[in-house]
Amino acid sequence: MSRESLSTPTRVFFVALLLTAGLADESEDIALKPVDLKKDGFDVTLQVLPSGRGVLMEFYAAWCPACKHFQPHYDKVAEYFHGTPRPKPEVYVARVDCATEGALCTLYNIGHYPTLKFGRPADFEVSKGGKLEDYSGVRAEKEIIEWVGKLQSTAYDFDPNREAQAFQQAAPVAKKEEDAPKLPQRVDLNDIESSTILSFRYIVEMGDGLSGLEKRQALKDWLDLLSRSHPLNRCAQGAKNALDSLPKIWPPDAPGASAVALGQIKICGDGVSLKEWGSCRGSRETSRGYTCGLWLLLHSLAARSSPPETVGAFWMAAVKQFVEQFFQCSECSQHFGAMAAEEAAAAVTTKRDAVLWAWHAHNIVNKRVADEEFKDHSGDPFFPKVQWPPPELCPLCRAPSVTAGATAGKASTEAEPEWNEDEVYRFMVRYYGDAGEKAEAASVAYFGGRKGLSSKVDKARRHGYTIAKVGGIALVALAVYVLARSAGSGRKGASIL
Ligand SMILES: Cc1cc2nc3c(=O)[nH]c(=O)nc-3n(C[C@H](O)[C@H](O)[C@H](O)COP(=O)(O)OP(=O)(O)OC[C@H]3O[C@@H](n4cnc5c(N)ncnc54)[C@H](O)[C@@H]3O)c2cc1C
Repeated sequence: MSRESLSTPTRVFFVALLLTAGLADESEDIALKPVDLKKDGFDVTLQVLPSGRGVLMEFYAAWCPACKHFQPHYDKVAEYFHGTPRPKPEVYVARVDCATEGALCTLYNIGHYPTLKFGRPADFEVSKGGKLEDYSGVRAEKEIIEWVGKLQSTAYDFDPNREAQAFQQAAPVAKKEEDAPKLPQRVDLNDIESSTILSFRYIVEMGDGLSGLEKRQALKDWLDLLSRSHPLNRCAQGAKNALDSLPKIWPPDAPGASAVALGQIKICGDGVSLKEWGSCRGSRETSRGYTCGLWLLLHSLAARSSPPETVGAFWMAAVKQFVEQFFQCSECSQHFGAMAAEEAAAAVTTKRDAVLWAWHAHNIVNKRVADEEFKDHSGDPFFPKVQWPPPELCPLCRAPSVTAGATAGKASTEAEPEWNEDEVYRFMVRYYGDAGEKAEAASVAYFGGRKGLSSKVDKARRHGYTIAKVGGIALVALAVYVLARSAGSGRKGASIL
């Protein structure tokens, strides 16, 4: 639908509709936050904007850690442009969640998250040759606002110090020790299955981006690895079927895959759908989930690999390519790529090498993310990043002197423990390998299961409130809200995305 194709009464109707929803900007009443757009209403929202208006669009995914770290900065950009008085020329700041709006993101060929694009409303009509500018600089408000200014031949008057005073820092979320979740005693197969389905869905949604020999090889090796070592037979079989049909779906001499044919593949079999997150469920709607499940999958694939002797090298190559080509969290992919380019990764040959490399790499990420979460409070307070496994899960994995004090409930500012790698290896194979096989029959049979989260965390999720200590007014509002929910229709299912 083009701008011209909207008749005046229709346009007036849509403007009224969008203003009511806070989506259009033909009044001063625009939200200070980035406007959330979905496929439904996307075109219309852009069509009712003045044709000369600048539009800054973030494509992100709710599960993506890099996007969570970026969010406060993007909020500040929106606050600046949507604030009063509006800086001129005006800019409309919006965003699209690719975890739920995959088709829209496929249309714009979004290869990694977060991606920022800028243009006039008509530039977003890609089918008509609209061309957008891509941002590749530092992900901070000052730099982004300067970039938008340059594109509009303007120098915006943005003073980070002045804006910082106005901007409310996210308060650290309070947590009590007794709220710490119980530890699952073995890997959660439902979460592995969901992350397998999602990872394949995100590959399919790359659309035109799914082209070139590197990507084809990455997909082939990933399917091969899944078919050999996936802990669930139905996913292993689904991957094998996909691998067998790859020459038809994506012939080696074809530039890209047939997205339609690829989209028809059910990677874990027909009728198997996403389930609520189990051990990967966060205390907030947007925490944990997919990335947690993906780690479980990567560790399980290493722990369940079987001879030949060089199987570790195959795991390493397949996982490296998968993360580089298909894991769309840009920051995660870069960090992981740097670790996978080190000598230690090149030396991975056997199953034991792969299991221990994955464990060690994950602990490096845990340490880095713990530091970041400490700074920007973006972490889930009920699941602080720790050097893993904690002593409660594997008492023999750490040298006795450092075991005391390092508990699962403590933030991971601890020094690197002294590990007993033989014990770590034994534990990893038990936790991610053999135990997984036994659990298949019992489905979600991990210790604690859904009740593994303390009742307080569970309650927090159920009612959708944060556990933060908020001011008196907010507490009253919270109490009213909880009462209202209790009186309502009961539990809202936790979202898989
Ligand atoms: C390949 C990859 C790279 C990533 N890189 C980044 C990044 O650079 N920056 C960023 O902010 N986020 C990154 N993430 C996301 C981040 O690691 C977490 O997944 C996310 O913060 C959710 O954390 P979580 O609490 O669910 O635990 P996760 O770290 O996701 O761990 C999931 C589960 O794995 C188990 N586990 C924990 N540590 C280990 C270990 N060492 N060995 C084996 N099992 C373990 C625990 O049971 C834990 O609950 C990355 C994710 C992946 C899959």
